[in-house]
Amino acid sequence: MTKSSNSTFLESVNRNFDKAAGYTEISKGILEQIKVCNAVYEIKFPVRIDDNIHVIQAFRAQHSHHRLPTKGGIRYNENVDKEEVEALAALMTYKCAIVDVPFGGAKGGVKINPKDYTEDQLERITRRYTTELIRKNFIGPGIDVPAPDYGTGPREMAWIYDTYLTFKGGDIDAAGCVTGKPVNQNGIRGRNEATGRGVFYGLRELCDTKEAMKKLGLSKGLSGKKVIIQGLGNVGSFTGTIMQEEGDIKVIAVSEYEGSIYSEKGIRVEDLLKYRKEKGSILGMPGTKTLKSKEAALEMECDILIPAALENQITIENAKNIKAKIIGEAANGPVSADAEAVLIKNGIIIVPDMYLNAGGVTVSYFEWLKNLSHMRFGRMEKRFDSNTYSNFVGLIEKLTSKKIGVKEREFLTKGADEIDLVRSGLEETMVTAFQQIWETAVSNPKIDGLRSAAFVCALNKISNDYLSLGIFP
Ligand code: NAD
Repeated sequence: MTKSSNSTFLESVNRNFDKAAGYTEISKGILEQIKVCNAVYEIKFPVRIDDNIHVIQAFRAQHSHHRLPTKGGIRYNENVDKEEVEALAALMTYKCAIVDVPFGGAKGGVKINPKDYTEDQLERITRRYTTELIRKNFIGPGIDVPAPDYGTGPREMAWIYDTYLTFKGGDIDAAGCVTGKPVNQNGIRGRNEATGRGVFYGLRELCDTKEAMKKLGLSKGLSGKKVIIQGLGNVGSFTGTIMQEEGDIKVIAVSEYEGSIYSEKGIRVEDLLKYRKEKGSILGMPGTKTLKSKEAALEMECDILIPAALENQITIENAKNIKAKIIGEAANGPVSADAEAVLIKNGIIIVPDMYLNAGGVTVSYFEWLKNLSHMRFGRMEKRFDSNTYSNFVGLIEKLTSKKIGVKEREFLTKGADEIDLVRSGLEETMVTAFQQIWETAVSNPKIDGLRSAAFVCALNKISNDYLSLGIFP
């Protein structure tokens, strides 16, 4: 159980829920039903490791069945426990509602440190875990659909898919049993980068909001903002590279497991990733200084602090030392409920996890739809669109008697590929959800921050679902 000084991750999620529930008109009974975790499966299974048997503990929590299938990642971490998985599953429910993805929330966890096992051993653990989920009907394209989370990625998702296929060979929709698969295994282009790209869109929207920037004393727009990133895994690395490529931000410090580094001039995340791959550490990156601890980077002055590692990183102990103006929660639950009160009092804007890292589940939804339709997005219309645009360009040239350049012609006549459509759908989702949250926050001055506003949006949508479904029997 990840515990900050006085509240666990689950307690933080529930305290935030209770606070936001007070801003709604939803009845007590419906609120209680939204809050509780509907089903948890806890398993211990044996796996042969070298000549020994290892007993592995694992979980799958389905927080809400108001929409099916349920959806949520699988985490491999030695600190996984039932409470953590339940907290993460609850966040998934609220997250899906905020970005209008038609799933209930779920989460899985396997209590291992993946670094302790070889690839072959990890494959065996993953396949056995999947088998246990199949046995208890905790996985399936219409039941519960896992995805990557901390410590897992496309490789593990491919093993899960293959194991599911082995048991459910005749299921025509089997590929929809898990998302985040490699593209050549029925995955979708853009899923790997999706969470980081969503973080970029979300922070860009905030920085383009004049009232927010005025309140913080910052200039409008993302360009030139000083950023600190904690965690350079899937989410942190794509957040950094995409925000540098498309948002022109300056990354002044990075924190990883081995320590943290700083450079006033800025660190190119792409170069840092290459350096870490080669040397096994971010420390010693040319042009940077090593800070005294991995936590030190969190307390430095910057415009945007992006925790992208794990929960409870900013707690009551270090909240008062945080000098960032904006905290973009790329990770789930990085700010404890106690810390949030201090940060809000200090005028810091927190862009909450349940919105900011929803890009992953949004593109997972696109992948699931692709799997159920058995066709790549763009396949039917790409050429048709391209021919239509070519005809337009030809007509313009004829009417104006002017030639359009080769590059411009290429740009104007391109039909959309899968990656273009995925990015466009993700951007639309993140922009629309931000506007809903922001409008909710400004329309009720009592609401004390974007997290409460996001919760209010989510709770109203889920409550409407329950009310229109009716309670059975
Ligand atoms: P990951 O395993 O790919 O990367 C996490 C990184 O954080 C690792 O490089 C690890 O070394 C580093 N780290 C761990 N503890 C640290 C510490 N104390 N200080 C600095 N660095 C530390 O995991 P991920 O998939 O990027 O997930 C990160 C967070 O984002 C998690 O909270 C996860 O739940 C959330 N999230 C992930 C996705 C996704 O699509 N992968 C989607 C939504 C939310």
